[in-house]
Amino acid sequence: MFIEKDVNSHKKQGSIEAITGSMFSGKTEELIRRLKRAKFARQKVEIFKPTIDVRYSETEVVSHDENAIRSSPVDNSSNILLLAGNVDVIGIDEAQFFDKGLVDVVEKLANMGIRVIVAGLDMDFKGAPFGPMPGILAIADYVTKVHAICMRCGSIAQFSHRFSNKEQVVLLGEQDVYEPLCRRCYLEATRKQAKPSDKDAPNTMRK
Ligand code: ZN
Repeated sequence: MFIEKDVNSHKKQGSIEAITGSMFSGKTEELIRRLKRAKFARQKVEIFKPTIDVRYSETEVVSHDENAIRSSPVDNSSNILLLAGNVDVIGIDEAQFFDKGLVDVVEKLANMGIRVIVAGLDMDFKGAPFGPMPGILAIADYVTKVHAICMRCGSIAQFSHRFSNKEQVVLLGEQDVYEPLCRRCYLEATRKQAKPSDKDAPNTMRK
């Protein structure tokens, strides 16, 4: 478990924490855990998520165990700067769906003395770095990579495999669309999904 340093104790010092991993790895739960502790300490907490993520609720960050915190949906990363008034802590969920300007926004917020906690998928279903996440991970003071359990073999899983063959990168869904897989099972699954003509192309990952 991530143990916070002495954040924002006396002097208001900003920081960037990134929480990343595959689907069903507990990213949002970890984000909520950190935010709730800040709220208990009466720190002013604001939470933002992209408007694209409307799976459950328009105004709440909801994790898979329904442990919800209210949040503001925003359609552009620059709106976070406008809405971040006199706050101590900012949580950003589903950060991978934001535009790449999010990296600069997060850095600005931290430089203003705000503790910024960003949760998002590291890779899309093809195994490629997702949206602004590579930049966020690079500038973060602390990075926590959480893992799911492979649905096929029980190993540690870091890939979000999609059952559907649609090419669209943003396809919101739950267990009926995605499954967390380990590297070996992910490679097997993507090979099986490939068309016969693609047989020699090992997979769609970049490595
Ligand atoms: Zn596996």
